[in-house]
Amino acid sequence: MTSTATTTSGTVRRATEPTPILAIDKLPPGQHFISGEFRAGAGNESQAIVDPCTEAVICEVAQGTAADADAAVGAALEAKESWSRTLPKQRAEILLAIADRLADNADLLSRLEALNTGKPLMVAEDDVASSIDSFRFMAGAARVTTSLAAGEYAEDHLSVILREPLGVVGVVTPWNYPLLMAVWKIAPILAAGNTIVLKPSEQTPLTTLKFAELTADLLPPGVLNIVTGLGPVIGARLAEHPDVDMIALTGSVNSGRAVARVASETVKRVHLELGGKAPVVIFADADLAAAAESLRVAGYWNSGQECGAGCRVLVHESVADRFTQLLVEQVSTLVVGEPTAGADVEIGPMISKAHFERVLGHLERAQASGAKAVLGGGALEGSGYFVAPTVLADVPEDAACTLEEIFGPVVTVETFSTENEAVTRANQVPYGLAASVWTLNPQLGHDVASRLEAGTVWVNSHLVLATEMPWGGFKSSGYGRDLSAYALDDYSRTKHVMHNKAR
Ligand code: NAD
Repeated sequence: MTSTATTTSGTVRRATEPTPILAIDKLPPGQHFISGEFRAGAGNESQAIVDPCTEAVICEVAQGTAADADAAVGAALEAKESWSRTLPKQRAEILLAIADRLADNADLLSRLEALNTGKPLMVAEDDVASSIDSFRFMAGAARVTTSLAAGEYAEDHLSVILREPLGVVGVVTPWNYPLLMAVWKIAPILAAGNTIVLKPSEQTPLTTLKFAELTADLLPPGVLNIVTGLGPVIGARLAEHPDVDMIALTGSVNSGRAVARVASETVKRVHLELGGKAPVVIFADADLAAAAESLRVAGYWNSGQECGAGCRVLVHESVADRFTQLLVEQVSTLVVGEPTAGADVEIGPMISKAHFERVLGHLERAQASGAKAVLGGGALEGSGYFVAPTVLADVPEDAACTLEEIFGPVVTVETFSTENEAVTRANQVPYGLAASVWTLNPQLGHDVASRLEAGTVWVNSHLVLATEMPWGGFKSSGYGRDLSAYALDDYSRTKHVMHNKAR
């Protein structure tokens, strides 16, 4: 913990047994994965990977150069021809084999993810289960893509729509769900017949590298390449590379802007899944207990380092006190701890010292602006980057903490008096990833859901995802869709072939 951090009541449950979460020989090689093999990079630099629970260095991973990115793009380009010609059925079989391989190694992957991110095992296990499901879904979806029927739409001309892969797709992923966010890209991109160069977050490359190691014998060399290193070096090179046909990034708005700017030089396609600040609109007739119980998970899952987290409550003024009390009761039962401190641990540390300090800075500014921490409000004692689950009440309208992404275990509570005010204020944030509305009046629920500017809106629920349904944002949250058949659309292109039947 840093000297600047304010500490708050509450404890971090520490692991009691000295057994490590994962044996050191289970770590993946800390090298790039190019053309089906691990290899050292062109440079000599490496990056320390830190356990956010203990602040100890886990291992070193290569910090790549633009030359490494170029080598990976070359490998992906070479593999593209034959991979793009595989039949959907062949790709589906490989994706199903990958799903089985992940399932066989689910415990190892969960533990590795928990080690690198500090996230509770229950969260890491959910990530791995969702990753497996993504591969299974995309395996099926690749075989049932639909488009306009072939037919005559102009006299004597037969129109046929071909759906083609884009070619080489560059992918940049964040640290909050390292494996899952990589899989949300890899599964549809491969299913659509593209090859990939992926750069994981410099802080959390371990499960992505392990994925490459585990699936190396299932994919032809060059179809999936991983280059580790910094965003402005590797990510930027992928965005600018003339042989990369699309750049897909999940991360912050600033990084999204940076890749979109660079990508415009080669007019390549851009797919962006960026930040969020999901409003939770609670009307007076809502089931308040159900809303509070749901937000216990939806506001704090992955320690609030979740782009769709229900972190900004707008509750009708007549029920605000009652709701806040119920929320505090729920959130105060969350168990904070290290991943090995028990299967019931629900909240882990922030990913890094820098992010920990960022979250604490938000909390200090929020309280200085008049918001009251009715629960938590600061760091927790001891090693690691732990922040107490926090509920901020009496939050002034337009306070920065209600508009900016905090990305920690913090939920703000504001009040409103009319439906129009609730919708206007909910839509005030620059983000538009997710939102929820809580009411027992179905007409009101549907009306407000249709007026909220977000790619996903829940009615009487929050943060429930389905692999079959699209995920993605409006406004500053980006464009393009992950999950569902819409992702396959995004990672492929349509070509119209028209035959003159009269000749
Ligand atoms: P980040 O933007 O700092 O980093 C994301 C990735 O972008 C990293 O791999 C990083 O190296 C790379 N990057 C950074 N600068 C770059 C540049 N100039 N060019 C190319 N790549 C660059 O984000 P983060 O802190 O790792 O992740 C948290 C953010 O991700 C939050 O804003 C969160 O909301 C967002 N997120 C969104 C979704 C979604 O589905 N919309 C999902 C998960 C996370």
